[in-house]
Amino acid sequence: MRKRTVKDIDVRDKCVLLRVDFNVPLKDGEVTDDARIRGALPTIHYLIEHGAKVIACSHLGRPKGIDESLRLRSVAERLSELISKPIKTADDCIGPEVEAAAASLKPGEVLLLENLRFHSEEEANDPAFAQALASLANVYVNDAFGAAHRAHASTAGVADYLPAVAGLLMEKELNFLGGALAEPERPFAAVIGGAKISDKIDFLSNILTKVDKLMIGGGMANTFLKAEGQEIGHSLVEDEQLDTARSIISQARERGVQLLLPADVIAAEKAAADARFITTAVNAVPEHSAIVDIGPMTMSVFARSVDSCRTVLWNGPMGIFEMPPFAIGSYAVARSIASLDNATTILGGGETGAVAAALGLEGHYSHVSTGGGASLEFLEGKELPGVAALMDVPG
Ligand code: ADP
Ligand code: MG
Repeated sequence: MRKRTVKDIDVRDKCVLLRVDFNVPLKDGEVTDDARIRGALPTIHYLIEHGAKVIACSHLGRPKGIDESLRLRSVAERLSELISKPIKTADDCIGPEVEAAAASLKPGEVLLLENLRFHSEEEANDPAFAQALASLANVYVNDAFGAAHRAHASTAGVADYLPAVAGLLMEKELNFLGGALAEPERPFAAVIGGAKISDKIDFLSNILTKVDKLMIGGGMANTFLKAEGQEIGHSLVEDEQLDTARSIISQARERGVQLLLPADVIAAEKAAADARFITTAVNAVPEHSAIVDIGPMTMSVFARSVDSCRTVLWNGPMGIFEMPPFAIGSYAVARSIASLDNATTILGGGETGAVAAALGLEGHYSHVSTGGGASLEFLEGKELPGVAALMDVPG
């Protein structure tokens, strides 16, 4: 179901409650990565240009009550720099002073409310709190895709009291992730990695019903390799997921999905950046070693395999990429997918985006999802509460 967006409504002279995901990393009170703030800029610019009175709100971190270190002050400063315009701030997100500040906004002005999670009612999705937030505005715009898998007051509850539409980032996320699941151009390949199968069972099962090719790397590939009878030394493995792996292997066969597992790997004495390591075929992994990355042959097989695809979805690193010697497989996959000119390329997952960012390649994909947990739940086929709360396009 397509959702209404900010472009479908008239925002001029209206007070717009804009939920954004400004949950950015901070160090010594300063914003160390402003990607999430930049992600909200298209919607903020749109609202300013269309004469809305913008009341932006977000959570930051996991405060229990008021926490001075988690105020949105430095986020406000960064936002103000990015939009080259002063913005107003408030000491709270509800209450008489906030109401007065909202009421005095002029068209095109921006007010950033204080951290929503200073109130425990936010995560509890308390109706009175949601109503107090809603009372500040005439319309609700949700651009916080990264928080859409949570049914909180500001992500879902407020929609009971205000007309609710998607922001432009939310729209982009739904278009790309939803488009890949609903009507991908074929061939469609998914490259899946990361630590564990158990984190991604529902994702694997769902994506298996959509793709033509499935490539598996990372820690989770070890369990698949063991399920196929390979000796994998003391690699990270989930013995309780061997049946899941076998079932995915047989479902792929039944559906005619081409399933590619690593043919060669990097095996290290231990999972440490300074450990000695070798490149080996998967049937010759030394007993006292652990698989920490895919090998060069696998990198080129995966590269060749995505080369002919029209849609490619990548989620999860191919190895322990935090350790530079074992980042090579993830970097190779990042580069192969970035080099495709004729395909819709989508990256999802927290760590996956970090791999692309480390190479400065973010701009080379059709879409890099801003939601870690939210994109995974979406790709599992679940309805996200923050999306469900938005108005549907009729028809
Ligand atoms: P994402 O956040 O992109 O969905 P995950 O959180 O599922 O990715 O997985 C990322 C983690 O998987 C990384 O911290 C990485 O070190 C780990 N990992 C990848 N390959 C291996 C491996 N062979 N052994 C152990 N850990 C691995
Ligand atoms: Mg992760």
